[in-house]
Formats: sequence, structure tokens, C-alpha cells
Amino acid sequence: MPNPDNSTPPIPSSVLILGSGVFGLSTALSLSTHPSFTHSTITLVDRSAFPAPDSASIDTSRIIRADYADPAYSALAAKASKHWRGEWGADGRYDEVGLCLVADSGKAEYVKKSLQNVQGLVKSGARQAGQGRAGKDSVQVLDTREEIERVMNTGGGSGESGYVNWASGWADAEAAMRYCRRKVEELGRVNFRKAEAKSLLYSGNKVIGVELVDGGRILADLTVVATGAWSGKLVDLRGIASATGQVLAYLDITQEEQDRLGKIPVLLNMSTGIFVIPPRDRVLKVARHAYGYSNPTRVPHPEKHSESMVVSLPRTKVDEPDQWIPREGELACRKALREMIPSLGDRPFSYTRICWYTDTPTGDWLITHHPCYEGLFLATGGSGHGFKFLPVIGDKIVDCILGKTPEEFRDKWSWPEKGKEDGVWTDDGSRGGKKGSVLDEEMRKGSRL
Ligand SMILES: Cc1cc2nc3c(=O)[nH]c(=O)nc-3n(C[C@H](O)[C@H](O)[C@H](O)COP(=O)(O)OP(=O)(O)OC[C@H]3O[C@@H](n4cnc5c(N)ncnc54)[C@H](O)[C@@H]3O)c2cc1C
Repeated sequence: MPNPDNSTPPIPSSVLILGSGVFGLSTALSLSTHPSFTHSTITLVDRSAFPAPDSASIDTSRIIRADYADPAYSALAAKASKHWRGEWGADGRYDEVGLCLVADSGKAEYVKKSLQNVQGLVKSGARQAGQGRAGKDSVQVLDTREEIERVMNTGGGSGESGYVNWASGWADAEAAMRYCRRKVEELGRVNFRKAEAKSLLYSGNKVIGVELVDGGRILADLTVVATGAWSGKLVDLRGIASATGQVLAYLDITQEEQDRLGKIPVLLNMSTGIFVIPPRDRVLKVARHAYGYSNPTRVPHPEKHSESMVVSLPRTKVDEPDQWIPREGELACRKALREMIPSLGDRPFSYTRICWYTDTPTGDWLITHHPCYEGLFLATGGSGHGFKFLPVIGDKIVDCILGKTPEEFRDKWSWPEKGKEDGVWTDDGSRGGKKGSVLDEEMRKGSRL
């Protein structure tokens, strides 16, 4: 390992996973039960106590959909959906209320491709029909704004055309992560440590573990970097993956509003990136799946210690407890809320958050051995769509560790050609907002309306 030719590498006697989000924790779960790793020690390190409050994997909700323009992700998501309908989604962790995927006129390419893929999955029997609305077809095409509004039943809507897929829904992200963590703990194979990785330890062209911020060291045959949007600090990923900040805004609602809106479909406009997830416990969330904000930060070069480099890294409420989203982002959420659920249009947001994607240029993940260093594996690059795969992604990551990357993802997840620019903006056709925004510049224009 390095393993560019996808051959079977030797089984490491010790595996160190950095990061306890979807990518790291699911890897720990799969390693715990995989026969090849029966004799390997497994250590999982996270800088925060679980659940890490500022990680991408911890939040009130995440959309669970097989509605992708790309057939490979669509098919994998359909497999994950079966698990969400089963034990992973039990006890309220998953609610199949449907997903209304819409686009503004002239910007419907992603939605059209997604509809084709989802209809293909239904025809091939790869997924079952929706259970959320008994008696309805699992996919219903919506050709006009009026049809979208009728399906939403909120007095509003978004976009000009689209479809509703009754076999999609949303998950309680924190509850699902806690469930996953419990499963790992019950298997008793993983040594959990709360510590922050400062840098990888090298011996020639081999990574032999990690140096911690507290001065300690953990040695391992194989180090899996799954530190999400922070990964660019530990490995030089310039032009390959980068942190982008995305806006989330929450508002309190009454019990009457909860009862009325609790079972509406998720509404996602693929032209603006804005989405609204049905409320739970009298809290409703509006957010934007966008190009996002970069946060250029100078850090020591991970391999060349006398040099430094500038990379976009997260800046969260853990760093700045009073952080509020930039005015530009709040205005976008406000405008969409007025349109989508007019009765709540002027309700103040009670809480906001900037949540950090690990974006790659194509939106494909980075699940691969490092091309230059033995003993170093990357499991990151979620690009704002990794959560729904929680029940299945760990198995895929372990397959990749073993040199068995699924054929349909071989080109997508391998170490890519470095992009021309250091910064990364995902262009997979799903992003709204403006490309190239910098967090500090947007904050200087104002925050808190
Ligand atoms: C706002 C938002 C909305 C999203 N919506 C959806 C959705 O609707 N559907 C969907 O499928 N996906 C969605 N996603 C994407 C999905 O949540 C992510 O792809 C996924 O959670 C990423 O997981 P991760 O493990 O890569 O990163 P994270 O969950 O961020 O985990 C990284 C972990 O690394 C730890 N760490 C960082 N640095 C260090 C260090 N130096 N040492 C030790 N530990 C460290 C952190 O504490 C953290 O726990 C969304 C993401 C965001 C941000």
C-alpha cells in the first residue's frame, strides 16, 4: 500500500481511524465484523467527545434519497434505503415522507436525470415502492408549480417542475450516528480515544501513525484519514478536496404547526440548492446545498515541515461559539421559507449553523490508498451527500482497503489528477448559490439580520 493497481494488499495488524463521522465510524463498524481483520487491533480517534457537535454527520436531519443524476450513486443509495426502512431507521430514526425534487425553469437537467434513474430503479425492482403514502405511485411527475404546491400542501412551493418520490425521506442524523456507535461498542473491537491528530508520522515513504496535539503518538500499520472537512490539514489535498461552509437555519414552531407540517415531503430545489425538512419536536430546518463558502487558512505543510500552505478549513461554533450565518445566506433561507411555507415566512430563526462539506470537483468521494505513501488510506470527500450511505459505506470502504473497489466506483473514488486550482468547488449540477464566496468576506458584509 500504495495500491494504485487495486491489487490485494497485506492485512494490517493495526488500523488507526482518524475521525468518527459517517466515514470513520462506519469503517470501524465494518472492520469489527470483517473476517480479514479478526486479528487486527482497531483504534478510532476523534478530537471531540462523541457526538462531535460540529461534525458534518451530527445534526437534526439528513435527506435520504436515491434521487441522483448519477446512476452509480443512485443504485447504492437505493441499497442504503432498504436499511433505513429496516433496523437503521427504527425508533423514529427514518421517516419516509417523500422527497419533492424540483427545479426552476431552464435549470432542470439534474432533476430530469435523477427522475430517469429513479424510474429505472423502480422498473428493475431494485427498490420497493414508497410506503410513506399508501396507495400512491412511488414516483409522481410534477409538470407545473401548481402541482408542486398541491403535493406540498403548505400554501407555497418552489420551482417550476420536478417530481415527488414517495420512497425517499429523511433521517434523524444524530440518532442514527448514536445507533451506529452503539453497534460498534457492542462488538467490542474498537478502542475509542478522544484526541486531536496534529500530523501524520512518516518513516521514509510510509505513514506509521499519528502525532497528537497533546504530544502523544499512536503507531499503526494502516492509518485511515476520515477527518471530513478537516482532512486537508493532515494530507495535502489541494485541488482534490476542500472544506466549504453551508448555511443551516432553524426556527421554532407551535404544536399546531408541528401537527400540520410534520409529514410534508422534504422539498429540495436543485436550482437554488435550498431545502426544507419537515419539523420534529417543534423545530423546522431550512438549509442550502450550495457552492458554499471557503475559509482559506495557512497551515504547516503536512509532509514538508519547513513549508506552509493555504487550504480551506472549517470554522465552526466550537471555534466561535457566537457564530451566525452570513447575511447573504440568511436572506436566501428567508426568501425560500417565504416561498415554501408562507405562514412561517417572517418567523425569526432561533439558531443557525455553518456546516462544512468536504467537497471534491466532481462530488465523488475519495476512498483510496494514498498514491505515494504506504500505510495511508483516505476515506473522505463526502461532498454534501454522504450521510444517507451510513448503513453501507463502511463495507465499501473496507472493500477499497482490501483492493476490491466496486467496478462502478473505481474511477470515481480513486486518487484523482490534481485540479488546476488549489481551491475546490463541486460542479455536479446539484449546487445553488454563487461559486467562489469566501467566509470572511461574506461575514464582513454582515451577519444577523
Ligand atoms: C449542512 C449539511 C447538510 C447535509 N445534508 C445531507 C443530506 O441531506 N443527505 C446526505 O446524504 N448527506 C448530507 N450531508 C453530507 C453528509 O452529512 C457528509 O457527507 C458526512 O456526514 C461526512 O462525514 P465525514 O465522516 O466525512 O465527516 P464528519 O462527520 O465531519 O467527521 C469528521 C470527524 O473528524 C473529526 N476530526 C477532525 N479533525 C480531527 C483531528 N485532527 N483529529 C481527530 N479528529 C478529527 C471531527 O471531530 C469529526 O468528528 C450534509 C452535510 C452538511 C454539512
